[in-house]
Amino acid sequence: MTIYNFSAGPAVLPKAVLQQVQAEMVNWHGYGMSVMEMSHRGKEFMGIAAEAEADLREVMSIPGNYKVLFLQGGASSQFAMVPMNLLRGKASADYLNTGEWSKKAIKEARRYGKVNVVASSEDRNFSYAPAFAQWQRDPNAAYLHYTPNETIGGVEIFDIPESGNTPLVADMSSTILSRPMDVSKFGVIYAGAQKNIGPAGLTIVIVREDLIGETLPGTPTMFDYKIHADNESMYNTPATFGMYTAGLVFKWLKANGGLAAMEKTNREKAGLLYSRLDSTGFYNSPVAVDNRSLMNVPFTLHDAALDDAFLKGAKDAGLLQLKGHRSVGGMRASIYNAMPLAGVQALVTYMNDFEKTHG
Ligand SMILES: *Cc1c(COP(=O)(O)O)cnc(C)c1O
Repeated sequence: MTIYNFSAGPAVLPKAVLQQVQAEMVNWHGYGMSVMEMSHRGKEFMGIAAEAEADLREVMSIPGNYKVLFLQGGASSQFAMVPMNLLRGKASADYLNTGEWSKKAIKEARRYGKVNVVASSEDRNFSYAPAFAQWQRDPNAAYLHYTPNETIGGVEIFDIPESGNTPLVADMSSTILSRPMDVSKFGVIYAGAQKNIGPAGLTIVIVREDLIGETLPGTPTMFDYKIHADNESMYNTPATFGMYTAGLVFKWLKANGGLAAMEKTNREKAGLLYSRLDSTGFYNSPVAVDNRSLMNVPFTLHDAALDDAFLKGAKDAGLLQLKGHRSVGGMRASIYNAMPLAGVQALVTYMNDFEKTHG
């Protein structure tokens, strides 16, 4: 039986990448050891790191005036690192509140400065994103932070906000690489790797060079973008195996048509699932149509008493990790780049069968 993994993160990786990792595990390119055992300062690993960065730059069309940092600490560390590095003498920053991850970013930023919440969708249980025209921005904000894809609520913002001269900061943990994105519109993009990039333990930060170098007093060395930029992400030992695996994922993206091709398939996959959810009253999508995520699709059954039977049957059919986040309930299907169309088709078939037997 084919198994499909719908986990929100750590999440499915391309089978071809896992097979290459397996083939190279014990003896990488005839070097007699695995990537895990290599010095991060040796020429072999330095080559792996340089290639990973070059491939990511190519796949995302990252302009030359941006640094790409391979860090640790997860997106959650960026919740602190962003204000520490970007307040740059200003008293406050603007934040959009569209869900659980926005809330965590806001809570952490409040430790370092004043936060102005430009708009919030908490009034309707974070089921939509407030329109840009309604955001109450502070003209003196050090930066504007938002979460383009709320992984838990399944709420995605497709248009990039026009922030003018205010640096735009995005937590792209669950949307990076899912579609082409104009990097030049952003001051900082950050993402934990375990959703759409590679294994957990690696965090990618893409930061415009002119924003680097002015940290809050007391900022730990490891939280200073400049330290990592000046040392090409090798100030200390980086997440070497994660960087190597992410590098293989970037090559897989290049070999499969890049981000334009990913977007096409991702739209096809999400479209299939949302039209199934909309086709009868048996299932329901709680998210506003314009903000329905391409990557994380929460849904409920009209009768929550059927949830356990749905999940058990799904597991028996090889469809794993569909249980919704504890804060939302119901189900959630995460359908990142590495989820093949066949996986979503299998899920839809199962949903049809389940409705026939329980509807
Ligand atoms: C998963 C996730 C995080 C947390 O990432 P960690 O790497 O576990 O710290 C933050 N923001 C978003 C949008 C996420 O999906």
